[in-house]
Amino acid sequence: MTTLLYMHPSSLEHDTGPGHPESPARMRAITAILEREERKGALVGVERREPPRATREQLERVHGGRYVDAVLDAVPESGHVRLDPDTVISPGSGEAALRASGATVAAVEAVIGGEADNAFCALRPPGHHAEAERAMGFCLFNGIAVGARHALDVHGLERVSIFDFDVHHGNGTQHTFEREPRAQYLSTHQWPLYPGTGARDETGVGNVVNRPLPAGTGSREWRRVVEADILTAIDAFAPELIMISAGFDAHRADPLAMLELVEDDYGWVTARLVELAHKHAGSRVVSVLEGGYDLTALANSALAHLNALRES
Ligand SMILES: [Zn+2]
Repeated sequence: MTTLLYMHPSSLEHDTGPGHPESPARMRAITAILEREERKGALVGVERREPPRATREQLERVHGGRYVDAVLDAVPESGHVRLDPDTVISPGSGEAALRASGATVAAVEAVIGGEADNAFCALRPPGHHAEAERAMGFCLFNGIAVGARHALDVHGLERVSIFDFDVHHGNGTQHTFEREPRAQYLSTHQWPLYPGTGARDETGVGNVVNRPLPAGTGSREWRRVVEADILTAIDAFAPELIMISAGFDAHRADPLAMLELVEDDYGWVTARLVELAHKHAGSRVVSVLEGGYDLTALANSALAHLNALRES
């Protein structure tokens, strides 16, 4: 069993300005905990890889060409530019965004090519709010959507499941695939909350499962919903690849939302998804970091997630 870990220094150079929750400190926290584990020799089975940049062709499977140009052209030579009220870019943001999406594509290639069972792409900026023609919610390019499109359109996979357990609904990912019967999008998220999409009756062409949850929902109820409605639906779809939008902001310590999950929940759900991947998908899982804004909770949760990927 090999788990690929994609990270890149450019994730540290995407500067969102003072006080922004989606900051380079997030990547420093994840880097520190993973290096600590590596020094202990604890990350057995994990192989680090440096991701390439996503190509224009790969991005344009999800985004319009003019949008891709607009984002890259907006990258300033100094200072900051605001693409939407929450989404701020700096000189390093273009490179960071291209590596983040490129990692997802490379991870899909590697697991389909049999080089590893699964992969975790721990880069920033996140992607699941990015729409075909619009940056929003800290996201520039929708990396998980770009990776899933690559699996469908380049490798000819017929069924790809994407489970998004970030506390926010992945509007961009849902909109990319809600009329694509070869993809299944499933999300648990706090509701009401940004971005306001993800109602239970948004079901796409029968390929979208949304489970909005009230503030205060804790481990027990979340696991019940995941077990009853998410894992069952993935099992029925029998995907050839399982992808995960791994946001860790449903953690109880997170400052941006009010669900009450703990690290163990992320280990649990990851192990369950790996189990389904063993059953249907030739063990193939590609996970992509999304949110998570309490630095300690983020680091511990990302580690629990990676450990479940390599051990399950
Ligand atoms: Zn989020």
